[in-house]
Amino acid sequence: MQFSDLGLENSLMSTVEHLGFTEPTEIQQKAIPAAMSGHDLIASSKTGSGKTLAFILPAMQRLLKNRALSKKDPRVLILMPTRELAKQVYSQLRMFTSASQFKAVLILGGENFNDQVKTLEKDPHFIVATPGRLADHLSQGHFYLNGLELLILDEADRMLDLGFATQLTQINNAADHRKRQTLMFSATLDHAQVNDFALALLKKPKRIAIGSAYTEHQDITKRFYLSDNLTHKEALLEHFLANETYQQVIIFTATRSDTDRLANILIEKGISASALSGELNQGQRNQIMDSFCKGQNKVLVTTDLASRGLDLLNVSHVINFDMPKHAEEYVHRIGRTGRAGSKGDAISFVGPKDWLSFKNVEGLLQQTTQFDFFNGLKAKFTGLKPKKTKKIKTSSDSKSKNQGKSKSALPVKSNIKTFLLAKEVGDMPVLRKKKALPVDKIESSDLEES
Ligand code: ADP
Ligand code: MG
Repeated sequence: MQFSDLGLENSLMSTVEHLGFTEPTEIQQKAIPAAMSGHDLIASSKTGSGKTLAFILPAMQRLLKNRALSKKDPRVLILMPTRELAKQVYSQLRMFTSASQFKAVLILGGENFNDQVKTLEKDPHFIVATPGRLADHLSQGHFYLNGLELLILDEADRMLDLGFATQLTQINNAADHRKRQTLMFSATLDHAQVNDFALALLKKPKRIAIGSAYTEHQDITKRFYLSDNLTHKEALLEHFLANETYQQVIIFTATRSDTDRLANILIEKGISASALSGELNQGQRNQIMDSFCKGQNKVLVTTDLASRGLDLLNVSHVINFDMPKHAEEYVHRIGRTGRAGSKGDAISFVGPKDWLSFKNVEGLLQQTTQFDFFNGLKAKFTGLKPKKTKKIKTSSDSKSKNQGKSKSALPVKSNIKTFLLAKEVGDMPVLRKKKALPVDKIESSDLEES
């Protein structure tokens, strides 16, 4: 199948051609026609498989072909769990909107609130946003969603994990046009909370699952190294950096304090490394991400914050300095390499503290691991004895523990009722004047990231 078989408007086709894409990926082949025919969708496919265009193209097509339901309200809202991710989607979207009459804006937590109020007053057609900040603006009446035609939730499971259930509910209730269409995307949909949410948000959705999120990513080689302790892990890391060829490396640690510590150790060794730690303000974080994207730094040390969705083509290696707590997070972390058909390496250090997480990952990947070792750095640790009961741990298993800074995530079950009771505006024209509200809130709580 070619892009030209999808029946897209000429202007969209020329941008696709400009991007150099001829064949839609599998998820694009399935999701684009389904979304264009007006269905609600719940779609999953592995990371790096092109989900972004799978929703941008039908969204653009809809705006080009259909008349707006309201004059002022946004027509398409794309929600993403993190600021970094939202920026990436926004830049892909801009490639399409810049050649059109449609305005797209980016509304993120951690940035100036009043500037965003002004941006929203310009009645954009597209909003790309993180849910916390957008819900704040919605509460204060800075824009309305009654005329919204298309609600897109990308990385839905992650948004729920970060504790955005309340904000998503609020946004869903505000976007109450009968003709609203909803598209939900994620690498992982076998997540109990996502399914409950999908039931509440989507109308007779089509399910599209391309493989399992956990199917082997063929372009990524996985290696596991046993390790004794922190010092030993550092020695393994140094050995790797000194002896192997790499383009760029993302190193994942369990805690934020470790990101700084490790980056400093690397810098002392003369390696250009930076840490995406929680202490930084948004400007500093942007700067670090930008310089890493531009290749100015070889190594980025981070926690799971950067593990979803980020599309960094030059990341040749992902190193799990510590194993992730949740097995599914492993899949997302290693998905930062091997993007768009290039090869990648995922290296994991497994010490006594990582053992249980490692066994969960092994269970998820359905493999028996042959450990690798570097000469002279073989660990004494050989693994822990298996426990009697073995259960694959998923993030839904630890509900309240892993809610990040979530303030008041309601249990999803109670949200469902709210959805079902939500009134529909139907075909009524959306006539409303904007209330001028005092803008007294400068900075909302920074909920967007843990
Ligand atoms: P996902 O959201 O599934 O993780 P992305 O949408 O971020 O994946 O896409 C991953 C990469 O693949 C991006 O660099 C994107 O430009 C590229 N890509 C998307 N669609 C195609 C296509 N049809 N052909 C080739 N490359 C594509
Ligand atoms: Mg994505």
